[in-house]
Amino acid sequence: MNAEIYFAKALPSSRIRSDEDSRRTWGRDRTTSFKADPAAVLLPETTAEVAAIVKAANAGKFKLVPSGGRTGLSGGAVAGPSEVVVSLDHMNQIAGFNGPDRLLTCQAGVITQVVQQTALRHGLFYPVDFASVGSSQIGGNIATNAGGIRVIRYGLTRQWIAGLTVVTGTGDVLRLNHGLIKNATGYDLRHLFIGSEGTLGIVTEVDVRLAMQPEPQRVLVLAVPELAALMRILKAFSASIDLSAFEFFSELAMSRVIARGRGVRPMPEISPLYALIEFDESAEDEAMRIFEQMVTVGSVTDGVISRSDAQAKALWALRENISESLAPERPYKNDISVRIMDVPDFLVAVDRLVSARYPDFEVCWYGHIGDGNLHLNILKPETMAEPDFVARCHHISPELFREVHLRRGSISAEHGVGLLKRDFLGFSRSTEEIAAMRAIKAVFDPNGVLNPGKLF
Ligand SMILES: Cc1cc2nc3c(=O)[nH]c(=O)nc-3n(C[C@H](O)[C@H](O)[C@H](O)COP(=O)(O)OP(=O)(O)OC[C@H]3O[C@@H](n4cnc5c(N)ncnc54)[C@H](O)[C@@H]3O)c2cc1C
Repeated sequence: MNAEIYFAKALPSSRIRSDEDSRRTWGRDRTTSFKADPAAVLLPETTAEVAAIVKAANAGKFKLVPSGGRTGLSGGAVAGPSEVVVSLDHMNQIAGFNGPDRLLTCQAGVITQVVQQTALRHGLFYPVDFASVGSSQIGGNIATNAGGIRVIRYGLTRQWIAGLTVVTGTGDVLRLNHGLIKNATGYDLRHLFIGSEGTLGIVTEVDVRLAMQPEPQRVLVLAVPELAALMRILKAFSASIDLSAFEFFSELAMSRVIARGRGVRPMPEISPLYALIEFDESAEDEAMRIFEQMVTVGSVTDGVISRSDAQAKALWALRENISESLAPERPYKNDISVRIMDVPDFLVAVDRLVSARYPDFEVCWYGHIGDGNLHLNILKPETMAEPDFVARCHHISPELFREVHLRRGSISAEHGVGLLKRDFLGFSRSTEEIAAMRAIKAVFDPNGVLNPGKLF
């Protein structure tokens, strides 16, 4: 049956699109190797409309793909042939602010940066931050349990979600936790939906908990001669300073940012690696003391510190613009994590593997190393066809994931599983865990209406 005609019983036809341009735009995320070909795009405005859509999909045997800001990096929002996209783009209203509880209540389609800006207007702070916050939505962040650059101090999205309204795969509406801090009444279902990648329910409304504003921040960029030095630096700084970020990137990553005009070289020294550290202004003297110490032992060869917000922004641009600067080269992205104590040994193993298995590819290192998260991007040679390149990387990935598995790490630290990592889930989750996940899926989405084929 024609999806456009069928869903007219759940939504005004002005908010149902099936032209090619809309299907192409809304049918995909930032991945490039999956084919998107949805039958239609639905643009609900209320939770009741979402519930009506899901009920209609069950009755008509349609499959639905929830779609947020479409900045995902795992193919989670890619809609295959005859699937129907449910976009949250029109659910972008802030419903209210509750001062005593420091809660912002909003619809799931609110852009993450708008949550941050609204928090600031109330003298508060929404700490989850990453390069795509200008496009991603709070609902998409919840579905992927997004992390980013300040996890080391503030944790992931999960930590800031105090209440959720979700429409399950049967079309039932669940209102969960209501913004409470304490609620010891059995299973906290809210946490099942956080990180579920749209496979259990569609998030429609959210209570976001806000933090107190931190004091002004300083950003320090250090030239680092070798991978092993990174963890010595992290250990030294985090022993006496409550860091708000500890990131790293390679010269190759930085040179791409500079070549695309998205950043300026911060110091004359060219180094294989750089660390970017952020901390409270009041810790500057202590940071300078540790910096000198690191230079003395040879772990750092040069450094530059921000003296203004503009300088801090310019230094952050070197890290935050990496992903977009690499995008034209269609990188094969690995987003992996291990415990912090395992990072030094893991870096050595990955470095060895990458040099042996990708001798003809450029490999770009960067990541949120302070929380054990490494982004390893393999760049596609210009002359190689994308399917050949992806097949080659897919062939090598199991070796990398075995190193992750050996250390009980994660094959997807923060980007989700989606389509990209689906076939590798067993490297991070046991057979019993996957069986339990399938059983949970059967409770909330017994007909498999929501985001089929994603995750498992
Ligand atoms: C330049 C760049 C940098 C990035 N940096 C980071 C980073 O540092 N840390 C990080 O964690 N991620 C990062 N990402 C990845 C991405 O931005 C996050 O995964 C983000 O949370 C996705 O949100 P979205 O709204 O774009 O979701 P989408 O891409 O639209 O969807 C992601 C998944 O969520 C589901 N979904 C979306 N909305 C809903 C909803 N309302 N209810 C239920 N399911 C839904 C989709 O079906 C899909 O499975 C980056 C991406 C880019 C392009």
